[in-house]
Amino acid sequence: MSNRTLAIIKPDAVKKNVCGKIIAMMEEAGFKVVAMKKTRLTKAVAGAFYEVHKERPFYGELVDFMCSGPVVPIILEKENAVADYRTLIGATDPAEAEEGTIRKLYADSKGENAVHGSDSDENAAIESNFFFSRQDQVNLA
Ligand code: ADP
Ligand code: MG
Repeated sequence: MSNRTLAIIKPDAVKKNVCGKIIAMMEEAGFKVVAMKKTRLTKAVAGAFYEVHKERPFYGELVDFMCSGPVVPIILEKENAVADYRTLIGATDPAEAEEGTIRKLYADSKGENAVHGSDSDENAAIESNFFFSRQDQVNLA
């Protein structure tokens, strides 16, 4: 699975109606969409997704934000997907993100930062299984 990663277009970007523009940036960077849907997280689901951050001071705020509107989880495929997608999205804080990155263009703050990206191959697999069935993840290439 090292050629896949899990992206989420977060509620701030969905509200701004820029999903198409963000997906276009993914495609222009060479990623293929393997699976995609629009959904809305409950507090319990968002809390479970971000369980690794539960001791962090921003956890409650993060969970509330992720439930504040619809999200668009996407499995992306490309060689070196995890690292290359992290490069495409830029730093967590848009003030520190490189020019031309998704967060530089569309994020408002460190919390409301437009997109999620897996941080390792292992987490990419766990996070993909969180949102998508095995059938959703079949190789379409
Ligand atoms: P990343 O999404 O870049 O991997 P982290 O895994 O560190 O960043 O954090 C997960 C998410 O938690 C961030 O994308 C952001 O939405 C939120 N977050 C991180 N740090 C802060 C912070 N200091 N204040 C508010 N929200 C934060
Ligand atoms: Mg992270």
